Amino acid sequence: MVDSSTRIAIIGGGMGGLTAAIALTRIAGVHVTVFEQASRLGEVGAGVTVAPNAARVLDRLGVLERVRGSGAVPDGHGVYLDAMGNMVTDAAWEDSARQYQNIGMYRPDLIDALAHDVDPQSIRLGHRLKSVEKLESGVRVEFENGTEDVFDAVVGADGIHSVVRGAVGQHPEPVYSGYLVYRGVMDASRLPADWPMISQVWMGNSRHFMAYPLQQRRLFNFVAGIPSDRPLQGAWSGPAEVSELAAEFSGEGWDPRLQHFISLIDKTFWWGLFDHEPLTNWSRGPITLLGDAAHTMLPHQGQGVSQAIEDSMALATFLAAADTVADIPEAFRRYTAVRMQRTAILQNGSRRAGAMFDAQYEFENLRKRDADIRVGRDFRRSAVFDYDAHKVAEQALARFRRVQVA
Ligand SMILES: Cc1cc2nc3c(=O)[nH]c(=O)nc-3n(C[C@H](O)[C@H](O)[C@H](O)COP(=O)(O)OP(=O)(O)OC[C@H]3O[C@@H](n4cnc5c(N)ncnc54)[C@H](O)[C@@H]3O)c2cc1C
Repeated sequence: MVDSSTRIAIIGGGMGGLTAAIALTRIAGVHVTVFEQASRLGEVGAGVTVAPNAARVLDRLGVLERVRGSGAVPDGHGVYLDAMGNMVTDAAWEDSARQYQNIGMYRPDLIDALAHDVDPQSIRLGHRLKSVEKLESGVRVEFENGTEDVFDAVVGADGIHSVVRGAVGQHPEPVYSGYLVYRGVMDASRLPADWPMISQVWMGNSRHFMAYPLQQRRLFNFVAGIPSDRPLQGAWSGPAEVSELAAEFSGEGWDPRLQHFISLIDKTFWWGLFDHEPLTNWSRGPITLLGDAAHTMLPHQGQGVSQAIEDSMALATFLAAADTVADIPEAFRRYTAVRMQRTAILQNGSRRAGAMFDAQYEFENLRKRDADIRVGRDFRRSAVFDYDAHKVAEQALARFRRVQVA
């Protein structure tokens, strides 16, 4: 078995990198060092949903209670509404066994909750990766601050602009979705007392607006998707005026309740939505990828972080089965084989969900679109939320072993 003498570098201290640090330490028993470019661990002040499939992994890692304690579990299923606020369908919000629910998380709270379970001595801040080089034995990582080190293996959890991705021979072009989102959080005490503590999505006129509670319901998250060519003109994100956002949902064609919600927002920023085509490979020898570095996806299924969390569990499970450092490339190869298929389906599904919310392409006919959303709810519960990343990796391991013996 690999053990604490096995040194693994995780590049990126985001939600994926920190979950990987916990999983690799607790399940595979290896020694991890997390390198983060920023001078402190942090995140943009917005929300993210930890879906039931990710909650299951966090439970196995022993960190679910802390995460749930700083997040918000909604009162029940979410709703998809038309532009005037009429119900289209309810939304999946828990797994079939009703054991795990969606958890709305303020992103800085999720980073804090995960970092709590990572040894502070193993986190190196202010380390921006410059290059990764596979050596005869081990992998050298070099940072812009002039430091370098050699590890037995490297995991690239360095996000959409990943440097590590180049070291596994992958150079995907970012694909702009044609949409930007206005994002932000508001103090929930501003909302009317009877505002439902669930996820709501208003859909209409090529745009949608989503809102759900965070931080024990003290905060409310919002994400509004708007068609725009702004990100094609330069930066991918920036500050925005609330009046711009309000103008996108003004007029008699939009639910006055939604307009009231928007009138209570005091701060927002915009964010261009990009993904990339599924990669053709994630691993080369003792170097592999995880999270957005491996599979940036559009946010419309709320699965980006959740997939990074699933990746972490699968990677740790395959690594735990490696007898020696020499077996790590095979562990990474197996991890890639299992994870690439799952995440490619969700990358594609996230594009499709965005097209549904915004009545694009084949979803222009709203009656048919609404029927598709209803069907998608059941798929989401069974295929997405019920997925057990640990069980799937264990079953794959058993199959890999049978093939080896045969
Ligand atoms: C509007 C929006 C809404 C979303 N909503 C959801 C949701 O509801 N549910 C969900 O599951 N997902 C959601 N996502 C997706 C989610 O944010 C990402 O999938 C997730 O952040 C990926 O985590 P990661 O750790 O892989 O990458 P990141 O969060 O990008 O973290 C990468 C880390 O690596 C560091 N880094 C980068 N380059 C280097 C380098 N060269 N050297 C050292 N460090 C480096 C960065 O500073 C960062 O800390 C949403 C995304 C958007 C844009």
